[in-house]
Amino acid sequence: MKWSDKGHELDKYGEELVHDFQKKEENILIFGAGLLGEEYRPFFEKLGCFAGYIDNDKGKQESGVNGAQVISLEDYFDEGKTGIIMIAADEKNIPAMESQLRKAGLKEQKDFYTYREFMKTVYPVLSVYVYNQFYVEQAQICLTERCSLKCKACAHGCYAVDAGSQDMSLEMAKESADCFFERVDLVKEFVLIGGEPLLYRELDKIIAYIGEKYREKMICFSITTNGTIMPEQKILELCKKYRVLIRISNYSAELKYLEKKYEKLKEELRRHEITYRMSDRDSHWMDYGFETLDRGGKEEELIQVFDRCGTTCREIRGNRYYYCVMARSVSDNLGFGLGEDDYLDFKEVKDKKVLLEYEKGYSDKGYLDMCNHCNGADAVQYPIPVAEQL
Ligand code: SF4
Ligand code: SF4
Repeated sequence: MKWSDKGHELDKYGEELVHDFQKKEENILIFGAGLLGEEYRPFFEKLGCFAGYIDNDKGKQESGVNGAQVISLEDYFDEGKTGIIMIAADEKNIPAMESQLRKAGLKEQKDFYTYREFMKTVYPVLSVYVYNQFYVEQAQICLTERCSLKCKACAHGCYAVDAGSQDMSLEMAKESADCFFERVDLVKEFVLIGGEPLLYRELDKIIAYIGEKYREKMICFSITTNGTIMPEQKILELCKKYRVLIRISNYSAELKYLEKKYEKLKEELRRHEITYRMSDRDSHWMDYGFETLDRGGKEEELIQVFDRCGTTCREIRGNRYYYCVMARSVSDNLGFGLGEDDYLDFKEVKDKKVLLEYEKGYSDKGYLDMCNHCNGADAVQYPIPVAEQL
């Protein structure tokens, strides 16, 4: 989307939300006091608007959940409570819960939302317009573009990066975090990534720096690794201290030898009480087409491609905030030299409404140069095997 009224693009929607929200005494209730509800509760506690749970389970109504009150839908009305209700439940249970709310006379997209629509559409706008808090779903720092593997379809183009190439300096990594957190009040997931981040010689220092200064502004702090390198003791200790989630990309379907490494890595992580998640072994990648596709550069088409894409993978490099980490890294690593101005300069923008608009996909151009060479949302139609090596 192209900016036509920078800083005011979302005013109409934002003001309507504020109006509705204030009528509801600025309360959010989560319908579903299960694991998903507990996952989303901190988002509202951070803003000070969490008003408890609604749940059909009588046991939960009696005991509460981790100190939070749980009431039935009947009690919600009987006690004259007001609030916006966010349904947090398994997809299969959502239709029945929506129907329960509709039957009680509540309106969809006004009185209640599913967690997906609420967190994507409402929460970021509410944060800025009511609380002047800027929320970002995901952001990452690529500490190094070097990698211990050479996947031929690497979405960052890391296979083209020389083993001796220079990493981001520690100063720049710190500046990246400082610039980001000076403007961002809450991020769902903040990721240290590569290439392979365990190749970064100062990984311990940057975990400690970010963990110490900014851990409270993150719901999740994570490192994504391909699992080929065992982290040193001091890194494991820091990951435990700052509650860093280790995300292991599972390439063992293609690279059988990794199975043993993964087992050892998982054992070490368990021993240090570090949480980890492993991606699905039998998944597939998508071909973005960066090296083969050329759309011909028509502005209207590129804006459509960008708008349909909706990637959440932001990247911070110093004062530069890139909308799409793949666009920046592929262009740099494969020497395309495209999109050199396709970023927001943190040093020039402080207005949280402008930041929110950028986050929602507004920019001066309305697309990125790399969208001309990318399948975008259609990449799902081009599945490719995971981690085939060059
Ligand atoms: S996909 Fe991951 S493991 Fe493979 S080359 Fe790229 S950064 Fe390395
Ligand atoms: S279309 Fe491709 S290049 Fe453009 S934002 Fe989406 S993933 Fe990035």
